[in-house]
Amino acid sequence: MQVYLDYGAGRPVDPRVLELVSRCHREVYGNPSSFHSKGFQALEVLGEARRRVAQLVGADEGEIVFTSGATESNNLALLGAAKRAKGRRKLVLSAVEHISVLNIGKALSREGFTVEHCPVDRLGVLDLGALEDLVDEETALVSVMAANGEIGTIEPIKEAAEIAHDAGALFHSDATAALGQIPLNVGELNVDLLTMSSNDIYGPRGVGALYIRKGVSVAPHMIGGGQERGLRSGTENIPGIAGMGLAAEIAGEELEAEAERLRGLRDALIQGILESIPESHLNGHPTLRLPGNANIRFSYIEGEALVMSLDAVGVQVSTGSACAAKTLEPSHTLLACGLKHEEAHGSLVFTLGKDNNLQQVEYVVEELPGIVARLRAMSPLTPEELRQDV
Ligand code: PMP
Repeated sequence: MQVYLDYGAGRPVDPRVLELVSRCHREVYGNPSSFHSKGFQALEVLGEARRRVAQLVGADEGEIVFTSGATESNNLALLGAAKRAKGRRKLVLSAVEHISVLNIGKALSREGFTVEHCPVDRLGVLDLGALEDLVDEETALVSVMAANGEIGTIEPIKEAAEIAHDAGALFHSDATAALGQIPLNVGELNVDLLTMSSNDIYGPRGVGALYIRKGVSVAPHMIGGGQERGLRSGTENIPGIAGMGLAAEIAGEELEAEAERLRGLRDALIQGILESIPESHLNGHPTLRLPGNANIRFSYIEGEALVMSLDAVGVQVSTGSACAAKTLEPSHTLLACGLKHEEAHGSLVFTLGKDNNLQQVEYVVEELPGIVARLRAMSPLTPEELRQDV
């Protein structure tokens, strides 16, 4: 059986979206800046996509800028806001932000900004008291992700935004992992900047968007012909953008039912593993978590060995954020939750999606105990009683 459980790292494009992308490549090849019918056709497709993405998060269409993905949106938000911050030279980021946000923070600190990291508790939830202490009248921007794609924890961004605004700072949220999984409304949450990615909602890769609240000023870093209201120059990727638009519309329509279905599968997976494997523990929050995320720690073994063994029986999972996988460093997210290095190393991230079903979950729950037992039998760290368990 083949069981793909790494949707957080990459998703198949929805067939309905793929059809639209393909049709746009065939038929909508005009340039939206051109003054003729083919240009107007492209402009209309662009506008429709912008309305669809805006609607998913309760924004106005004029508040959406299309980019090449979440990394670029994070760059535009953080670098752009820092550049426009009048005299404010401090940024506060949650300690569990995606590596792209943390590395932008590092780049800004080299330019003289003070960058603080707000801690989280053992379940990965932002410490709002600590945030209140860190944010002051020097702070230009606070960035807290809507949910962490690795441990699944949903963050209190409405409360965090309020703390930022009370100090006169902007509030950015990287919603890459949360979009399409949980309802997000920029008005209710009171965010100023929101990062979105197309592939994470079953849209084509190489497309993303940034919500920029009306009146909020960010400096562009892509300078050129002035497309996207001068905030992101370069001829628009019409097929990709149209695909993201349709993916957003479908995500909005299917969110509730799909989230309910995924929560059922997720809980069956978590319960099945925790009940059948001794010394396995759930990372992240037990209830405030993304519907499709399970992150489980297995004592005494390496996550990489588990990934390879599972792949050999047709199951694809990951040890953490795919973007940081090459470093072999323990996950900064798990370390921020207070886990020891060896605990962080033995963790697996299962991210479920549209094509998963209960039979697949049952297959994983059947296969995993034997794999864990075999790897533990080989590990010098395994205590005797678990060895005899093999
Ligand atoms: N932010 C978050 C929360 C992510 O999970 C990811 C990776 N999917 C990114 C940003 C970066 O996305 P991309 O590599 O597509 O730009």
